[in-house]
Amino acid sequence: MSDHPVLHVKGGILVGPDEVRDELWVVGGRISLDRPAGARDVRTVEGWALPGLVDAHCHVGLGAHGPVDRDTAEKQALTDRDAGTLLIRDAGSPSDTRWVDGRDDLPEIVRAGRHIARTRRYLRGYAHEIEPDDLVAYVAREARRGDGWVKLVGDWIDRDLGDLSACWPRRAAEAAIAEAHRLGARVTAHCFAEESLRDLVEAGIDCVEHATGLTEELIPLFVERGVAIVPTLVNIATFPDLAAGGDAKFPRWSAHMRRLHARRHDTVRAAYDAGVPVYVGTDAGGTLPHGLVAAEVAELVTAGIPAPDALAATTWSARRWLGRPGLTEGAPADLVVYPGDPRADVRVLAAPTRVVLNGRVVV
Ligand SMILES: [Zn+2]
Repeated sequence: MSDHPVLHVKGGILVGPDEVRDELWVVGGRISLDRPAGARDVRTVEGWALPGLVDAHCHVGLGAHGPVDRDTAEKQALTDRDAGTLLIRDAGSPSDTRWVDGRDDLPEIVRAGRHIARTRRYLRGYAHEIEPDDLVAYVAREARRGDGWVKLVGDWIDRDLGDLSACWPRRAAEAAIAEAHRLGARVTAHCFAEESLRDLVEAGIDCVEHATGLTEELIPLFVERGVAIVPTLVNIATFPDLAAGGDAKFPRWSAHMRRLHARRHDTVRAAYDAGVPVYVGTDAGGTLPHGLVAAEVAELVTAGIPAPDALAATTWSARRWLGRPGLTEGAPADLVVYPGDPRADVRVLAAPTRVVLNGRVVV
């Protein structure tokens, strides 16, 4: 028992958006809603508790130039953990991070294998770069390597065209998504622009990353098919800098990126209002630092999503979407404690007072 101390968490336990309990216990690393009989050496943790936060678009084991060593990957995962992210959907990594699964002091990772991109149509060193004829085979391979997700790069700059353009013909996408589904995996795609969205959604895709190109015309299709989006607004904030770097060589692309950036909050708000499921993702790894989950939640609020729903996008509904429990009896005790009610002001997420992972106080 000394390995797993009994914790008494009291204050405001946000079991659901409208369900608040006064207290819960952690016994043997798991959540108990009832006081354990005869417990001694009980440690008390006080404050407002949320289920461990979800970063639904994060990359562990990825750096600016591709794969990183294990020590660097461990630091990335620890930075996320200390910010309260205890469940990561890894949206593509060229590193094998399976070793993380044996570490109960690191966040759980739900992997999408390695990115699958069209030849020379993505950041160098990140993806399998292939042609459409090979897409089904690569999707099958990454579906088997991952944890129920596959990640495509759906659009990227076409240097001959000088603008963003779709990477996969509709038929190739259809066959590949069908194969992933046959193998029990869901498929998501990186999409900045408008063009690729209709084909990918009609081809059966489950989620779109960034989705800056989502228009009023396309939103009803997303709603009808139940396709989720992970806007990664903290990443979209870098578009003006990217655009400035492209002005000389690719002015059309730069102008396009600026337009997508300018309407980013309206895009997210319109999707949310229409009923498109929206989840929190930071796009940490590669070029962005880890640990930005609170900043992304604040960005969703800035976009116009009410605080309780922005919180749900990184807690209750995000966990359900990934098939992981929240603060329920017998679930692994993954929770984050704050000094104030995050429903009143999501900015408290920036500084958790305690992080409890697998029943241990790690922060
Ligand atoms: Zn990403």
